[in-house]
Amino acid sequence: MTEFFNQFSRRKFILTAGASAGAVFLKGCLGNPPASITGNSINAQAAAQPVANLAPEQRPETTTVKLGYIPIVEAAPLIIAKEKGFFAKYGMTNVDLSKQASWGSARDNIEIGSAGGGIDGGQWQMPMPHLISEGLITKGNQKIPMYVLCQLITHGNGIAIANKHLGKGVSLQLAGAKSLFTQLKSSTPFTAAFTFPHVNQDLWIRYWLAAGGLDPDADVKLLTVPAAQTVANMKTGTMDAFSTGDPWPNRLVKDKIGYMAALTAEIWKNHPEEYFAMKGEWVDKNPKATKAILKGIMAAQQWLDNFDNRKEAAQILAARNYFNIPAEVLIEPFQGKYDMGDGRKIDDKSMAAYYWKDGKGNVSYPYKSHDLWFIVENVRWGFLPKEYLTNAKALIDKVNREDIWKEAAKEAGIAAADIPTSTSRGVEEFFDGIKFDPEKPEEYLRSLKIKKVSV
Ligand code: CA
Repeated sequence: MTEFFNQFSRRKFILTAGASAGAVFLKGCLGNPPASITGNSINAQAAAQPVANLAPEQRPETTTVKLGYIPIVEAAPLIIAKEKGFFAKYGMTNVDLSKQASWGSARDNIEIGSAGGGIDGGQWQMPMPHLISEGLITKGNQKIPMYVLCQLITHGNGIAIANKHLGKGVSLQLAGAKSLFTQLKSSTPFTAAFTFPHVNQDLWIRYWLAAGGLDPDADVKLLTVPAAQTVANMKTGTMDAFSTGDPWPNRLVKDKIGYMAALTAEIWKNHPEEYFAMKGEWVDKNPKATKAILKGIMAAQQWLDNFDNRKEAAQILAARNYFNIPAEVLIEPFQGKYDMGDGRKIDDKSMAAYYWKDGKGNVSYPYKSHDLWFIVENVRWGFLPKEYLTNAKALIDKVNREDIWKEAAKEAGIAAADIPTSTSRGVEEFFDGIKFDPEKPEEYLRSLKIKKVSV
């Protein structure tokens, strides 16, 4: 009964939405100005493009898609592309953004796809698309091919520590905190959380601990906890640290629950963060719509990197239907201003989140060398067998579709100088002086003192 009702209202909704979009197009054809949103942002609003007005090779096969997101700053390009009309500009007039309760839900929803009430793609930590494609984190180990299509963001993440540890040396450099960790280990180990295992936030916290000489598998307790619950746990004192995206770290500081030991921008400047990826099946069936979505995201990323737009971006993201938070929590980090909560204040635009271009070049383009780092890091901690060092290239070539990104960028008129010519960003350097040369992943692993793999 309920199922039938849901299906019925869903179909009805799609029909209604389709009909009203048609009416708008008709008006446009009759010579009226394109429909636009009222208000101050009218000039920045991209005009919805009737599909028939697009060049035939750019007309999307469908105008409807359902994309998942998690309410953190990584999702901004998706939300801005919808709210500022960039998806519609490229013919994607019916993009449904669906807030995911957790990363596990996003994974489950991609398995069933939008036809089953799930999603066709969206925001991902890395290397989730690779792990899903390999059937390593899916039900019954079903292999569900996914394509990584662009990076959404760099920076915007950090490691938060409970206020009870203030002044005990738990900071970016951990040398002064060793005795504290040893002392806690014999009673209640230092407990740190992330929101999904084996991906970004788990990897950032592990990298930071290991760089400080602590073994994340022996010296602390690491576990998966949904973001909202982590804040509650930190409040009650059962959680010592967690790693997550803005606005959560900043909220902790503002609410005097915790402080920031480090921004991920301090651990690895201009590091890869979260990505946009879709179900391969959907992309194969709708290649033009995929590029239309990508063009919308690229336009949103460029809009977001204009710092004059960031106050408005914070207001859009903070709205009840998206993050449901006071916009103020986002405005400062968006300008590279962080009150770390331990007396340290950062006011440096190069530490802010970037969506289109950062200090090392293009952010949106998905470098294969970055996929490799996430896979190598999974090998480092024993999450993936060592064979993945040699298998990684074939897996990345299947999952990373930078070729589609490039086609979309050309169609969008992105200057050739802004389209990377190599799939590698080259050698990367971390805060502890360790270097990752994508040509020599084994050498990187050998240079790391704490790891779970022998190379
Ligand atoms: Ca993140």
